[in-house]
Amino acid sequence: MDRKGRRSLSLFTPGPVDISGAAHEALVRPILHHRTGAFIEILSGLVADLKATFLTEDDTAVLSSSGTGAMEAVVANLLRPGDRVLVPVTGKFSRRWAEICRVYGIDVIVIDLEPGEAPSAEMIEASLKRQRDIKAVLLTHCETATGSLTDLETVSMAIRDTALTLGRRILTCADCISSLAVDELRKDEWAIDCAIAASQKGLLAPPGLAFVALNGEALRWIERVSAPRYYFDLRRYFADVSRCPFTPAVSLVQAVAASIKNLLRRGLENVWAANRAGTKAVRLLIEAAGFSPLAANQSSGVTAFWTGEVDPVRVAGILHEHHGIVVAQGQQELKGRILRVSAIGKSRRQILDFAEAFEATMTHMGLKHEIEAVRPRLKHILEDCRIWE
Ligand SMILES: *Cc1c(COP(=O)(O)O)cnc(C)c1O
Repeated sequence: MDRKGRRSLSLFTPGPVDISGAAHEALVRPILHHRTGAFIEILSGLVADLKATFLTEDDTAVLSSSGTGAMEAVVANLLRPGDRVLVPVTGKFSRRWAEICRVYGIDVIVIDLEPGEAPSAEMIEASLKRQRDIKAVLLTHCETATGSLTDLETVSMAIRDTALTLGRRILTCADCISSLAVDELRKDEWAIDCAIAASQKGLLAPPGLAFVALNGEALRWIERVSAPRYYFDLRRYFADVSRCPFTPAVSLVQAVAASIKNLLRRGLENVWAANRAGTKAVRLLIEAAGFSPLAANQSSGVTAFWTGEVDPVRVAGILHEHHGIVVAQGQQELKGRILRVSAIGKSRRQILDFAEAFEATMTHMGLKHEIEAVRPRLKHILEDCRIWE
């Protein structure tokens, strides 16, 4: 419901997103004790389904925290104070890797990029060759602040090849929080040593769980680290990923397990295609209203666009108050300059409703637009969103 309790709100934000019916049903089931066979079975099923979604054979641990908890756990467990890492920064979320590393006394080399840019393989390779003692590269698959997608496959392969040339191992870590089950991601094929995700984005579940997938190399790095850690000591989780070391968020495990099963039933590639179509539709609409997107390489998780002379707070306010649609503002240096719209998990009907609300908002504000003219193309694009029906 919105503040006046009139109708239920639709979240077109890049996390949390509206949860699936399966997640919703699972949330009201009775609490299982986490040491019972019934719960261990659910958690094991969730781990297997997460592996199928990351496309990895690696063990994947479930943490009861938001996504940032997994980022911190990775930094605290894989890196030592004084280690040097490379972090391409393109917005608030990729910057978070650098911030966490600095807190842990890690020496961070930043590649500063403009909003909407993504790091290229050439940039990364050049930095690795210039600074020969870099131990790890911390990447952000989809920079949720700008909607920019990193070509993770090409970048990760470049890291692996450069490391081979330099004759040593460089660890590739990727924040896939807003790309898992949204954009194509193939952890093992793309040689990603460590990938993380969270429950409240592509998995269409409530916030509160985070996931860490580590290969053998990454697990060996944990053993090198002697800095103190307790709750997020990843050795405790990877000892047996189907038994959480502490009481997990039981209801959330049940909800994510149900939701991810549903996604996999629809087919991972169909889910990627549906999210891509939803995003294409949003991008078509905002361009028809005369706005330009930030991302050169558009992710399927979120479309961020410059609002120019138009007040983004007012656009978001009208969408919310008149139409029950919540979109996201810009953060930090982008505050007051952009809006962000996510179509993750949205059906044809929901996106057509968004189109109508967006058109009415533009008209209400007296802004010129050509939304009516793109409607036939919009309907055509949305065919791929039928999987949600
Ligand atoms: C949402 C998001 C996060 C932060 O996750 P929290 O769950 O809020 O801690 C980190 N990185 C990216 C890319 C995200 O989209």
